[in-house]
Amino acid sequence: TPSSAGSVPTGGAIKKKIAVMTSGGDSPGMNSAVRAVVRAGIYYGCDVYAVYEGYEGLLKGGDLLKKMEWQDVRGWLSEGGTLIGTARCMEFRERWGRKQAAGNLIREGIDALVVCGGDGSLTGADLFRSEWPSLVKELVEDGTFTEEQVEPYKNLTIVGLVGSIDNDMSGTDSTIGAYSALERICEMVDYIDATAKSHSRAFVVEVMGRHCGWLALMAGIATAADYIFIPERAAPSGEWQKELQRVCQAHREKGRRNNTVIVAEGALDDKLNPITSEQVKDALIELGLDTKITTLGHVQRGGTAVAHDRWLATLQGVDAVKAVLEMTPDTPSPLIGILENKIIRMPLMESVKLTKSVADAIEHKDFDKAISLRDSEFIELYENFISTTVKDDGSERLPEDERLNVAIVHVGAPSAALNAATRAATLYCLSRGHKPYAILNGFSGLIQTGEVKELSWIDVENWHNLGGSEIGTNRSVASEDMGTIAYHFQKNKFDGVIILGGFEGFKSLKELRDARAQYPIFNIPMVLIPSTVSNNVPGTEYSLGVDTCLNALVNYTDAIKQSASASRRRVFVVEVQGGHSGYIASFTGLVTGAVSVYTPEDQIDLKSIREDLALLKENFRHDKGENRNGKIVIRNEQASSIYTTELIADIIAENSKNKFGVRTAIPGHVQQGGVPSSKDRVTASRYAVKCVKFLEAWNKKNVDETNEDFKILRFKYVNGSKVYTVHDEDSSAAVIAVNGSHISFKPIARLWKDETNVELRKGNEIHWQEFNKIGDILSGRCNLRKEV
Ligand code: ATP
Repeated sequence: TPSSAGSVPTGGAIKKKIAVMTSGGDSPGMNSAVRAVVRAGIYYGCDVYAVYEGYEGLLKGGDLLKKMEWQDVRGWLSEGGTLIGTARCMEFRERWGRKQAAGNLIREGIDALVVCGGDGSLTGADLFRSEWPSLVKELVEDGTFTEEQVEPYKNLTIVGLVGSIDNDMSGTDSTIGAYSALERICEMVDYIDATAKSHSRAFVVEVMGRHCGWLALMAGIATAADYIFIPERAAPSGEWQKELQRVCQAHREKGRRNNTVIVAEGALDDKLNPITSEQVKDALIELGLDTKITTLGHVQRGGTAVAHDRWLATLQGVDAVKAVLEMTPDTPSPLIGILENKIIRMPLMESVKLTKSVADAIEHKDFDKAISLRDSEFIELYENFISTTVKDDGSERLPEDERLNVAIVHVGAPSAALNAATRAATLYCLSRGHKPYAILNGFSGLIQTGEVKELSWIDVENWHNLGGSEIGTNRSVASEDMGTIAYHFQKNKFDGVIILGGFEGFKSLKELRDARAQYPIFNIPMVLIPSTVSNNVPGTEYSLGVDTCLNALVNYTDAIKQSASASRRRVFVVEVQGGHSGYIASFTGLVTGAVSVYTPEDQIDLKSIREDLALLKENFRHDKGENRNGKIVIRNEQASSIYTTELIADIIAENSKNKFGVRTAIPGHVQQGGVPSSKDRVTASRYAVKCVKFLEAWNKKNVDETNEDFKILRFKYVNGSKVYTVHDEDSSAAVIAVNGSHISFKPIARLWKDETNVELRKGNEIHWQEFNKIGDILSGRCNLRKEV
């Protein structure tokens, strides 16, 4: 009405007012996204509003559009679901509903909307933006507002974040909540495995995914399932039962005591008939298996977000604010996504269209197209699953003269996914006809005892969720006795070697490569899969085991934070591992909302400790009692030889003037062990299979210039770009590395020369620098500095 128009602020033109909302199904991590948008928005000088209850809040306005203060999102990183609510709102699908919503936004002076939801929510948001000028025109024509009042609100800015447990958005590798849901599924299937094994049963586990098989596929890989059913790869109608029975029977014959079949709720056969858990169960009963169904249902949405989702949501939330500030009326609405390890922006509607085309392809029974429209990781992992689990009957074996003896060795401290990677490499080797050999107890084991063990299917069958190292690991490096190692390589006729380890593994690879001149037996392809909780292997941004470690730290930190809520106000100085690399500390600080983070890369000095104190006092001053969780300071174990964890705690305590207590907390070896996270299991499988393919491609037996698959893996770098090569000894000793949006094999010789800080046992590049900057913005440290 014209009267309410009087309250329209003129701020739109001067200061951005951003509204953030969650919509569609809830997913873990949505709260981290809202927290990041609110705090980054405030930091960049905007007003930020939360829209409660999804689009319903936009339609109703009033109390459902709430201006957010810095303190309002305190503690939200560790909360599951979405605290600002979500809803399915039929009225927003109608033009009158969207007009009403536009009126409410203009009344509050809001001109930008960050929507975190699925493809439905994002389609609605984009439609709202495209209609905006005409909606505003109508609001003037019907007298709701005057021309002057709407003048600053000519355009609406929309930025999309994908919050969905299904991971069903094309163009982005993962959506906020997907890895948390996968983690829940893996936890549940691990529990089920224990009882299934006890009774020698089969279990059919139904997981969410009405239109997308990501959860079912990844769960299948991470839980060592015998078979999966997904919508994108429809099973042949009337025939799938036979194949399912053949695979389960074969695995039983190999010695497995249980069977697991994962069924996506939207699984189909190729005539588009649903494949139900009941039908799968019937097929297994027909085989004579005692079979039960577990439908996981809403537990998959439950619980707090895993480290990956908190990280993803936090970085994407901050980028959403930046996108709002950078956008012009001509820019297409962006969607914030991720490719491998890099946060990206892409046109929202293109991604939505691509996502919808998967459904169209399925509807038209074009299943090859459906699967090809998912991201590349999806197809790669699907093919790996089929090779290692369904077609492990010899049908994919290479000709006899192309089969390899593949050595696998663990080097250094154990990290969580060593067994999972070894299992995947073994299964893939077996399906290709290679012989996988475990070098027992690292290089010193080989030197001292010469013991190697040929691994069989049943040896590795249950290694997918075992922490530690089943084949034994040792810190010793290869140079301890190169001659003896060469002797055993020769004796066992190794054609290639996969090393799993951290910096010692990296060093061993370098030594083996350097020893090629002296010991020609080392002229075989060799590859390192970085595996260390410290994530300090030069040249890569990800190491196996690091995700498990981060989850352990997130759970640990959540627990100690909460322990303070019942007692006095308390600060915890948490000491984390990482050697001379601050990655773990910086990441943990970012995803636990630490007040400050001390790393070896940034010097600790009195100024920074003084800033901590000021921030802690400020923080506690705003604590009204409703959220009295403890505050966290993270310190890497090697951050300083002077400012120890105890000293920092003592200095803070001394200066707290009894306003708050201080404790130290050292999680120690909890960080290394435990059950590998679902992300580590999936990544382990992906890297391991890629590495066996690398060995195949670089083996002398396999030089085949017409084989396109091999060409992809057989290259050297010339002026920074990849060039196919038949002979290049350096490129055949490499590290599998992820950098930004790329995975590649980097020659160890070049890495060692250009990217390694040998003394500090880490890379020269600090690829996580941004975590500290964003952490400082979101903890309020940057605000404080501005004020100072
Ligand atoms: P999920 O992946 O969890 O299903 P979603 O965002 O796809 O999430 P939807 O139920 O499709 O969930 O959409 C959520 C809300 O977004 C709807 O209730 C509706 O208010 C709005 N919405 C969805 N599609 C449209 C559309 N085409 N036009 C306008 N609004 C829409």
